[in-house]
Amino acid sequence: MPELRRDPVTGRWVIISVERARRPNDFVRIPVAGPTNRFCPFCAGHESKTPPEILAFRPDGGPANSPNWSLRVVPNKFPALRVEGNLDRVGDGLYDKMNGVGAHEVIIESPKHDLFLSDCSEKAVEELFWAFRDRIRDLKRDSRMRYIVCFKNHGEMGGATLEHTHSQIIGLPIVPKRVQEEIDGARRYFDFRERCIWCDMVRQEIETGARMILETDHFIAASPYAPRFPFETWVIPRQHSSHFEDSSPQLIHNLAWVMRTLLRRIDKVLERPSFNFVIHTAPVHDGPMEHFHWHIEVIPRLTKIAGFEWCTGFYINPTPPEEAAKFLRDAGMV
Ligand SMILES: [Zn+2]
Ligand SMILES: [Zn+2]
Ligand SMILES: [Zn+2]
Repeated sequence: MPELRRDPVTGRWVIISVERARRPNDFVRIPVAGPTNRFCPFCAGHESKTPPEILAFRPDGGPANSPNWSLRVVPNKFPALRVEGNLDRVGDGLYDKMNGVGAHEVIIESPKHDLFLSDCSEKAVEELFWAFRDRIRDLKRDSRMRYIVCFKNHGEMGGATLEHTHSQIIGLPIVPKRVQEEIDGARRYFDFRERCIWCDMVRQEIETGARMILETDHFIAASPYAPRFPFETWVIPRQHSSHFEDSSPQLIHNLAWVMRTLLRRIDKVLERPSFNFVIHTAPVHDGPMEHFHWHIEVIPRLTKIAGFEWCTGFYINPTPPEEAAKFLRDAGMV
């Protein structure tokens, strides 16, 4: 019998195929292709082909927009939203609109074209999370920005349009619905139990172990109880904190190890698939929240969203999270 499972934060239901569970080999796996020779504006030496940089790490120093960087942040050349101007919220009868004000930045994670993030050094992965932290701290000074989305699209199925390894940051003048749903759900849980749902989740997952993938002093990586997608994984700090940008250097250092290890295991088990990850953190202008707990959601792209999902908001997941976790746990150190 398939199982209906409810996500305790959002209340979203998913259908999990328990009997004919799809194992890694059952998916039509499309590994992300290796590099092509096409001209790439993100490669070292092509600094003039991107808009001027916003932030860069140059271990040996050097002027802005020169080579010898290990990571660069540049404005997106084709931004979804623009930094200039006022919001000008207006109604159009029963409809609402405002100007497309926001920020859209690209983090170039490595000067080398032929590396995936999982191939990069732990230091490089750490720099990526430092860049997310620095950029949130800077962007939140702009009072128009209500929420900063930090995410990565990798591979064609993951929606990446450039193959050179990169992540993105979008500053939004509104709090996105998905995040608000999590905040509201967590608030309801907190009002009832006076505890944070993610803190409870961390405790229970450590105790039962069935969905645990890896565990450090600072984080757990586990399959959620009601995942929307096969091999969906959540990385959750063990200590309560609502805002990612408040993370200490030790936390960022450990997060880099956790994320790199997880991505390498996903590469091993699922043959270097396309994936997305997103940092779910609290809205930047809200103070510390007792009920919301930042985390990262990682989703390997193995299946496509079909009509049923569009129609219902329900997801059908062909791989039980307990099995997915076992595969990723057994992939061991890589
Ligand atoms: Zn490149
Ligand atoms: Zn918590
Ligand atoms: Zn989330």
